[in-house]
Amino acid sequence: MQESTPIKIDHLGAKNCVTGSCHLMQIPGSRGRAVNILVDCGKAQGKDPELSFDAFSVAPEKIDYLFLTHAHIDHIGRVPDLIEAGFDGEIICTHGTKALLIPMLRDSLSFTQKSKREIKAIEQRIDDLSWGFEYGQVFSLKKGIQFKLGNAGHILGSCFVWFNISLESGKDYYRVLFSGDLGCTDTPILPDPDIPDVCDLLIMESTYGDRNHESRKKRVGVLKSCLTRALADGGIVYIPAFSLGRTQELIYELDRIGMKVPVFIDSPLGLKITKIYAGMDECWDKEATALKARGDHPIDFKGLYAVERFGDHKKLLNMSGPAVIIAGSGMCTGGRIVDHFKQGLKDAKNDVFFVGYQAKGTPGRRIIEKKVPCRAEIHKLSGYSAHADQAMLVKWVKSMPAPPKEIRLVHGDSHARKALAAVLGI
Ligand SMILES: [Zn+2]
Ligand SMILES: [Zn+2]
Repeated sequence: MQESTPIKIDHLGAKNCVTGSCHLMQIPGSRGRAVNILVDCGKAQGKDPELSFDAFSVAPEKIDYLFLTHAHIDHIGRVPDLIEAGFDGEIICTHGTKALLIPMLRDSLSFTQKSKREIKAIEQRIDDLSWGFEYGQVFSLKKGIQFKLGNAGHILGSCFVWFNISLESGKDYYRVLFSGDLGCTDTPILPDPDIPDVCDLLIMESTYGDRNHESRKKRVGVLKSCLTRALADGGIVYIPAFSLGRTQELIYELDRIGMKVPVFIDSPLGLKITKIYAGMDECWDKEATALKARGDHPIDFKGLYAVERFGDHKKLLNMSGPAVIIAGSGMCTGGRIVDHFKQGLKDAKNDVFFVGYQAKGTPGRRIIEKKVPCRAEIHKLSGYSAHADQAMLVKWVKSMPAPPKEIRLVHGDSHARKALAAVLGI
């Protein structure tokens, strides 16, 4: 059911696809101008559309607040461009996102033509404008607008954003909830998503609206048996992994499995983020907290080696197995994994474990499709996902104290959105 309110929401990115998240909410004011709130400002990937700022119905300098649901590039990647285009408002996120924001953007900006000095200046500007907030507390913005950030359990610092907006009459309220990206239940290190507050309008992601994942127990079992077989011949197991989220999950699971061979994290960004995860234990789930209390650090173990310097990376290229090497980028589009593959794929003793989605046309996908000369054995391990599946998304909506009056599905392809809409009965 479409509610008629004076609040206008444009889905400027990730409306019918997964990347480039960006939503603009315009709240009219009784006196003076409206309050304009942008939720996420992400980079689109592949063929997903990315609207130019000129096409926004509100110019960047007229945006009062930018809320960031989490630090994945497809949710924050255009923040530097938005600032360059005139945005001068406040950036609001959780403490976790605030900690990850600059390392993630610095890495992304290093692939542009910008000089080190320009990058430093952008980082300083972002740091000046951004504020970290607590989960679960109500805060007030101007003109009777309140917000609360709920834990989304997707990556460290991820949140969903609940707005409570006082309407013109001053008596009525309109509540809008942006889900951001919702994590799986039973994810390593992070707690399950919080129960959402009641809302009039829910804008929800639908990435895996059409399928359900394997259980974590099964997934870890498969990882363990594949590793045992792959390492038996003394070869190297390469795991291409995203620096944010997946690398930390893998460290956690390899620690639980109990590795008898060295594990190398050959990713400066992955290591930086692992340090941030390790330092923010207030964001961990009960299991990780209990492990630490017992003296077993959940994302560190004997035999785990950090490969930070480029010189050490070069040495690692000539090392013989058995060993596990985790390196970025997740889809092998760049980063240190590319160097490892130059020689590593030629050796039949070696193995590659793909633990994440490999988009069409990426080197990772081409390896899986056997379009690249390769003697190493290729394995596709399923069940790794930072996104809630259909059952979890439905359960999350149903956990609301009362159903929302309206639900809009975004951040998913049409098949996923249709399937989820059918199950939700919308
Ligand atoms: Zn995400
Ligand atoms: Zn996303």
